[in-house]
Amino acid sequence: MSGVNWHYVFKFIITGDAAVGKSSLLVRLTDQRFLANPDPTLGVEFGSKLISIPEENKVVKLQCWDTAGTESFRSITRSYYRGAAGCLLVYDVTSRKSFLNTRTWLADVREHADPHLTCILVGNKVDLCDESTKRQVSTEEAEIFAKEEGLLFVESSAKSGQNVEKAFEDAVRDILDKIHRGV
Ligand code: GDP
Repeated sequence: MSGVNWHYVFKFIITGDAAVGKSSLLVRLTDQRFLANPDPTLGVEFGSKLISIPEENKVVKLQCWDTAGTESFRSITRSYYRGAAGCLLVYDVTSRKSFLNTRTWLADVREHADPHLTCILVGNKVDLCDESTKRQVSTEEAEIFAKEEGLLFVESSAKSGQNVEKAFEDAVRDILDKIHRGV
């Protein structure tokens, strides 16, 4: 590993409805913190993070792009998707609408991104499910959808940090696996 800081650089994109927690996931990943009242006009656009995959003895540099407010215009361009190896498709487990809209986001990803892109469905804000009345999307329903569409799946909380690194790591492992298989 001498002189090598990382073995691979992967571009990741984060899509999904406004307010599901995309910027918060990125801030949690890269900065280990959570902002209860982020300024919506100052969406975090970019974050970089080294992820190590010990069983492969590999370090991967993630370059993550957030839609940073453009989601309301559905104006995400081809250049945003170009070269992406991974995609987080995020919904809010307390918003059924945001879950249903992941179908539209997925269609957009499939239209513009590389067909081999690894996509992970991320049900964010699970910390709010302590109050069981708030959950609007069951884990089982999302799991079935993910399986049907060939997506990885995880439930996360940018607030507590639960499963945030795991979401990215699972996607990285899947991408490395595709590289090994020559896909
Ligand atoms: P974005 O528009 O998808 O980038 O969403 P933001 O990251 O701006 O988050 C929208 C709102 O949800 C903010 O008030 C966040 O503090 C809040 N939020 C984001 N993630 C979580 C989470 O995991 N749990 C809770 N309780 N709130 C969250």
